[in-house]
Amino acid sequence: MKSLNARCIMCGKSYQLNEDHKDYKNLSEKNVSTATFICDRCSNKVRYEADEQRKPIKPSSS
Ligand SMILES: [Zn+2]
Repeated sequence: MKSLNARCIMCGKSYQLNEDHKDYKNLSEKNVSTATFICDRCSNKVRYEADEQRKPIKPSSS
């Protein structure tokens, strides 16, 4: 299986993406020496924070 090195723009960690990764095709087409992407961990975090911001402020339960 083919793979490429990509660095997460959010946490800065380097990852090796396999051919079956959702971003592989997109990144390999860019033909850059170091591809950048947002890793699963960070994208989950972003999604979680976006959800939190969308929530209405809870009324105090006290
Ligand atoms: Zn990351």
